[in-house]
Amino acid sequence: MTHQTPVVTRFAPSPTGFLHLGHAYAALFAFDQARKAAGRFILRIEDIDQGRCRQEFEDAIQEDLAWLGLSWETPVRRQSDHMADYAAALEHLQAQELVYPCFCTRKDIQEEIAAAHGAPHLPSTGPDGPLYPGTCKALSRAERERRIADGDAFALRLDVEASLEEARFRDAQLIWHDINKGEVRARPEIFGDVVLARKDTPTSYHLSVTVDDHLQGITLVTRGQDLFEATHIHRLLQALLGYDTPTYHHHGLLMGADGKRLAKRDVSQTLRALRECGATPEQVRKMASPAPSA
Ligand code: GLU
Repeated sequence: MTHQTPVVTRFAPSPTGFLHLGHAYAALFAFDQARKAAGRFILRIEDIDQGRCRQEFEDAIQEDLAWLGLSWETPVRRQSDHMADYAAALEHLQAQELVYPCFCTRKDIQEEIAAAHGAPHLPSTGPDGPLYPGTCKALSRAERERRIADGDAFALRLDVEASLEEARFRDAQLIWHDINKGEVRARPEIFGDVVLARKDTPTSYHLSVTVDDHLQGITLVTRGQDLFEATHIHRLLQALLGYDTPTYHHHGLLMGADGKRLAKRDVSQTLRALRECGATPEQVRKMASPAPSA
């Protein structure tokens, strides 16, 4: 008899608003993948952005998902309770000299990019906009130490070039298996030196999600196609941190009647609003059932 790893999926919303049909679609998708494989389904609250997250929304997430008929394992992991895990991962990267402090403000970066427009090589643009021009990467160790000692606020950026070199040295392939795309070779360089710890929060989406998927033993990451590119970075971080790589299923996004993807501003499409209008969980599940292309 062969031993197979059980499928573990997760739904990982941020409590910055009420869940809408698009979230229901993503949650049901993850739930169904686990159910079909007799696996486990996990709910994770991604609340590192404390300025935007609210307890009211966190409570509503659980209430709405339960109303929809979903169940999940408890206790639910809330990212803000686990900052020490992200700090430990950062320390591991710091010890390998793969991150550097960045003191730039948004304005500094914009000015640097604007100045570079007159240069022969235009700055490149990635999935999240223009790449960081590398200003602080060039600072000497003494200069970094001086500015930190002076109390200058700083973010920590991943040195993608050095990281790729290190990752290739250990794990030459940097490939992930994507259910819709097959074998995908990670190209994290398309983002440039991403921020792993923000000035206001000592972690970031990319770092926390990679650490949590690892610590929670997620074997199948299901999420919208809008996050496909982010996997390039997550795959690199997995290699640097010595984690296994889950399988990924980036599914289609549920569109509104106007053909645009649903967003938090589409109040009429929140599960609460639909429920108040008399919709039953079964009707909402049908409205949010995965499209054939997913
Ligand atoms: N927290 C992210 C969001 O609400 C999803 C994270 C993920 O699935 O990787 O968009």
